[in-house]
Amino acid sequence: MKTVLIVGAGGVGSVVAHKFAAKLGNSGRIVLASRTLGKCEAIAKSVRERTGVEIGTAELDAEEVPRTVELLERERPGVLVNVALPYQDLVLMDACLEAGVDYLDTANYEPRNEAKFEYKWQWGYEERFAAAGRMALLGSGFDPGVTNVFTAYAAKHHFDEIHELDIVDVNGGDHGQAFATNFNPEINIREVTAPCRHWEDGRFVETAALSEHRRFTCPEEVGTYSIYRMYHEELESLTKHIPTLRRASFWMSFSDNYLKHLEVLQNTGLTSIEPVEYEGKSIIPLQFLKAVLPDPGGLGKTTTGRTCIGCIVRGVRDGEPKTVYIYNICDHARCFEEVGSQAVSYTTGVPAMIGASLMLDGTWRRPGVWNMEQFDPDPFMEALNRDGLPWTLVEGDPLA
Ligand code: NDP
Repeated sequence: MKTVLIVGAGGVGSVVAHKFAAKLGNSGRIVLASRTLGKCEAIAKSVRERTGVEIGTAELDAEEVPRTVELLERERPGVLVNVALPYQDLVLMDACLEAGVDYLDTANYEPRNEAKFEYKWQWGYEERFAAAGRMALLGSGFDPGVTNVFTAYAAKHHFDEIHELDIVDVNGGDHGQAFATNFNPEINIREVTAPCRHWEDGRFVETAALSEHRRFTCPEEVGTYSIYRMYHEELESLTKHIPTLRRASFWMSFSDNYLKHLEVLQNTGLTSIEPVEYEGKSIIPLQFLKAVLPDPGGLGKTTTGRTCIGCIVRGVRDGEPKTVYIYNICDHARCFEEVGSQAVSYTTGVPAMIGASLMLDGTWRRPGVWNMEQFDPDPFMEALNRDGLPWTLVEGDPLA
């Protein structure tokens, strides 16, 4: 019997639990562990009501490695799916190594005290995972995750060589709130306010955060949106593993309303991660802000509209220039109907479930530390169509 341990009972963790329950039914065991047991129990109740499957729950602070090792030794899962926060990546990798369990996550490690995410820390585990015969799959969400697989699929089937990549992430949804983030507010705001980096002629070029923008018309009448160039972690692994890439950029849509609120929050110092003294206590302004903002996991009920995330890949085929665009469109309300979450959690949780399933059944299993584009994209692409995130590939350049 396959056992999966999911760590993190947030918006994404809830989707992973629901999708795994739907997939495994009663032929597998799913355990959901998080800092707050009540959140695990609420998700377990929803899973039971929607799928009839009973999942296990556990209270766990993942920062305490011996506690995680204990839980892993008790449950003996085939894989640990880390959908807690990026701060927990290394401690969970340590626990997996100690207990001899495979590992998967959806966001790369960043230290709490510096808003700078890089793969160097997790790539540093390569030798230890390989020597132990264990596997770590990094970034199995949508972006990173599906965007890496889309790029690998284009390179495999549509080009002799790829030269340029634009990843475009549009959220055409409306949650009905004055200001809210699509996923964990602390992680989201750290990412959006960081300086932008894009790949050009073999190196990263740094520019001011959100200083470059375009208008982008999504297919299938999702709408036209302002997209802003920003740094995103898959640029680091894709430019390493696909060395023919000459240019690579990541773009995300933001509404004028989101940017207006963000600017005010930044100007007042509320997005800072520098500790301040407040009534004799040291607090981090951004963590306080997270506490007063809406919980993205609870926005599903009121969110309407669609997301449209995809990759525009340019290169050559048979000596001729060629461009393809591969995308997925996901409807917030339909996701809520299926699993009780909005599309941003859904588009992250489904690929986490697919990546973990491919590890469990051996299709994508190799000892070591890997990024998504290093595996054959075909089984993952097939699973996306089957498991709720169908994709479309068209020729032509929607950014031209
Ligand atoms: P949430 O904040 O909703 O959920 C995170 C959960 O992790 C919370 O339930 C929290 O528990 C739990 N947690 C935090 N610290 C610990 C700890 N020390 N031990 C155990 N559990 C802990 O975040 P999301 O669900 O929105 O995001 C989850 C992850 O997915 C993040 O890493 C995010 O960066 C990533 N992500 C990736 C995307 C992609 O496409 N690749 C897109 C969106 C998100 P508690 O509530 O009890 O504190």
